Amino acid sequence: MSQQTVVSFYDSVTNFFNKAAQHTGLPEGLLEQIRVCNAVYRMLFPVKMQDGQVKVIEAYRVQHSHHRTPTKGGIRYSNHVNQEEVMALATLMTYKCAIVDVPFGGAKGGVKINPWDYSPEVLERITRRYTTELMSRNFIGPSIDVPAPDYGTGEREMAWIYDTYRTFKGADIDAAGVVTGKPVTQHGINGRREATGRGVYYGIREACNIPEDMKRLNMTTGLKGKRLIIQGLGNVGSFSGTISQDEGGAIIVGVGEMEGAIYNKDGFDINDVLKFRKETGSILNYPGAISIPKEQRETILEYDCDILVPAALEDVISYKNAPNIKAKIVAEAANGPITSRGEEMLLEAGKIIIPDVFLNAGGVTVSYFEWLKNLSHMRFGRLEKRFDQQRLENLVGLVERTVGREISDEEKRMIARGADEIDLVRSGLEETMINAYHQIRDVMVDKPKVTDLRTAAFVSAINKISSDYMSLGIFP
Ligand code: GLU
Repeated sequence: MSQQTVVSFYDSVTNFFNKAAQHTGLPEGLLEQIRVCNAVYRMLFPVKMQDGQVKVIEAYRVQHSHHRTPTKGGIRYSNHVNQEEVMALATLMTYKCAIVDVPFGGAKGGVKINPWDYSPEVLERITRRYTTELMSRNFIGPSIDVPAPDYGTGEREMAWIYDTYRTFKGADIDAAGVVTGKPVTQHGINGRREATGRGVYYGIREACNIPEDMKRLNMTTGLKGKRLIIQGLGNVGSFSGTISQDEGGAIIVGVGEMEGAIYNKDGFDINDVLKFRKETGSILNYPGAISIPKEQRETILEYDCDILVPAALEDVISYKNAPNIKAKIVAEAANGPITSRGEEMLLEAGKIIIPDVFLNAGGVTVSYFEWLKNLSHMRFGRLEKRFDQQRLENLVGLVERTVGREISDEEKRMIARGADEIDLVRSGLEETMINAYHQIRDVMVDKPKVTDLRTAAFVSAINKISSDYMSLGIFP
C-alpha cells in the first residue's frame, strides 16, 4: 500500500477484519455475512430552530449484525457524521460486544449536527424527532435496537429518547430498556457514567500487569508511576484520566482538547486540570504546564510519555504522525483513533496497541447491566444486601470470639458491608475487562502468527459470532 493512500475509517475497520479473518479458517460466505452491515437507515427530517427557521437534519442508524438481538450502540451528534462513519462504528460495536460477552449485535446512530451550536430546546426537538423516525421504521425497542450515549450525547438525550418512546409505547412494561445511559433517576444504573473510562483503566492496568509484555517494552510491571497523555477530555478521557491517576497511581503528563493542549514532564493533577477548565473554559494557561496552541494541538500525541490514550475521535494517528509517536503503549479509549496504515507502522516500531474493541467496551458492558436492570425492574443488590451483611456480621462475631481479639467498629463495617449497586457494577465490569484481556492474549499464545492484540481481538470476536451462525444451521 502506498504511503499516500487515504484509507477511510470504514476501510480501516474492513482491513482489520480481513487481517484477522485469515487466521480463522472460516468459509468466505460466512465471513462475508459477519463483515457486512445488515441494515442502513438514512433519514432527513425538518426541525424548527430557535429563530423559527426550519432546518433539514441528516441522520442515520446502522444495524451491523443481528446474530444476536437486540442490536446495541450509541448515538453520535457531530458535524462529521456520514454514512460510512456510522457503518464503521456499528461494525466495531458487533466485535466489541462479542469480545466482552455482551449478548447483543452491533449498531450505531449519528445525527449530523454540532450539538454545541444549538440550544437545549432545539436539541430536544431533534432528539425526539429522531426517536419517532426510528420508531416508525421499527428501528428501536428494548428487544430490537437499544441506543446509548456516544460523542456529543449524554444522559439528557437518553432521557428524551426514553420519554418519547414511553409516550407512544406506554403499554410496554419493558419500555425503560429502550435506551441505556439514562439518568439514575430515570431508570439508569449507578456507574454507567464512568463506565467506559473505568473500563479503560482496568484494561490498561491488566496490560501493564503482564511481566513478559512489559519486559519486551523495557518497562516495569504495573501501571503505577507510568506517564500518560490523554487526548480528549470528554466523558471517556476524563474518567480514564482521573481513575488511572487516583486508583492506579498513573502520572498524567499531558492532555489535549479542542482549544489546545498542555504538557508537563513531571505530571499534574488531572482533577485540578478539569476544575481549571470548568472555571476558565479552557485548559490553556494551566499553571505549571506548558500550553500548546489550538493550531498545534495534535502534536500532543507526539510528546514523550509511556502510554498514549487517544480518547476523542477516529483517525487521529495515521501514516503521517505514526513515526513520531513516542509512547510505547497506545491505548485506544476512542473508537478507531488509529488508521490501519498507522497501526502497521506502530507495530513495526514494536509498540503495543490496546485496541478499542476491547479497551472501551466498559460502556456497553455497563449498558448491558442497565438493560438487565430495566428488564428485571429491580436494582442490583436489593435482595441480597442485608442478608449478606447479616451473615458477614455473624462471621466477624464468631472470629472475634474464637480469636479473642476485639475487631474495631470501622473494621467490622469494612468487612461486613453488603454490596450496593455501584459495587456490583464495578465488580462486574472489572471481571469482564480482565477476562476479556486474557481471552484475547490467549489467542496470541495459541496462534503464534497472530502477533498483535487487535488481530487477536478480532479473531476471538469472529469465532464467537461464527459459532452463533453455525448453531442456527444457516451455514454448512
Ligand atoms: N457509545 C458507546 C460505545 O461506543 C456505548 C455503546 C452502548 O453502551 O451501547 O461503545
